[in-house]
Amino acid sequence: MGEFYAPIHIYSGPGALERLRHYNGQGVLLVTDHFFIESGVVEKIRALLPESKVTVFDQVTADPPAVLAAQGAALCRRHRPGVLVALGGGSPMDCAKAIRLASETAMTFVAIPTTSGSGAEATSFSILTHDGIKKPLVDPLLRPDAAILEPTLLEAMPKALIADTGMDLLAHCLEAVAATGATAFSDALAHGAARLAFAHLEQSYRGETAVRLFIHEAATMAGMAFDNAGLGVLHALAHSLGGVLHLPHGRLCAMLMPPVLAANAPAARPAYAALARQCGLQAATDALAVRDLTAALCRLRRRLGLPANLREAGVAPETVAAKREEIVAAALADRCCETNPLPVTRAMVEEILKAVVPWQRQ
Ligand SMILES: [Zn+2]
Repeated sequence: MGEFYAPIHIYSGPGALERLRHYNGQGVLLVTDHFFIESGVVEKIRALLPESKVTVFDQVTADPPAVLAAQGAALCRRHRPGVLVALGGGSPMDCAKAIRLASETAMTFVAIPTTSGSGAEATSFSILTHDGIKKPLVDPLLRPDAAILEPTLLEAMPKALIADTGMDLLAHCLEAVAATGATAFSDALAHGAARLAFAHLEQSYRGETAVRLFIHEAATMAGMAFDNAGLGVLHALAHSLGGVLHLPHGRLCAMLMPPVLAANAPAARPAYAALARQCGLQAATDALAVRDLTAALCRLRRRLGLPANLREAGVAPETVAAKREEIVAAALADRCCETNPLPVTRAMVEEILKAVVPWQRQ
């Protein structure tokens, strides 16, 4: 039996930010990072909420540590906001989610993503870092009640961020179609999201701001897909490598795609092939479709200027060698493994790791 549940209001398109007026008069806790104060977006939000007391928590950093959740929860207890607003990329989203959980305060949770990839605005996942290990929290309370997809917030997105987050979106599609919780409903979202990403990601990277809403919506669709279907070994390894190497999550996902497709193919070949065909890659057999999908992903990765492995990403061999056991152990313990289409074994993790650590083949 399959299950699909996605209770979220999505406001999408130019002017979506205006939806915030709906909350005017209620106390608001706004979780963001310093950049959005400097860029004037926080001021814009305040202007939409003239009768609200807006408390800003701007301490969020990349790979947010669990301690931030406690600090934000203390603010909630002091100000008793009725609305929690998360503004920014994956990190402010993850931090706001953890604050909601830790505060035990009933708040309407509104997510305003400013990058197009994590899908955090639509998921019950939050990734926090504790003692150098990235740990996914999963709880229905972490899922926002509303997502505001405002394309004007994407105009200044740096190219590297478009590339990294866009490949994360595609990794969510790949994992969602293969995961043990996949249904026709999650598949439809993952297929639609991947189609949009293949059609428009490179244009967005090259500076076409008009297509950015497509990618933004695709990221939310992919988030809804994996929130229901689950993820897999690709994210387990992206989390463990990210915790140790501090490389962008999507960049790690992009390099892990080909070896993960190969490792999971014995169980997931038909699912990957269906995704490939939905993206316009016609092939006579499922095996050929998966080969073409892998080639298309590698081609896109190259065009987005992303590294194919850790050596190209500038990681020193001794860094990985020293931390190898830690990386493997954290990946095996990651709860994303639970929904991988095949049981995740040490041998599988080692095999995938070998492909992204090319200097260890010699
Ligand atoms: Zn991801």
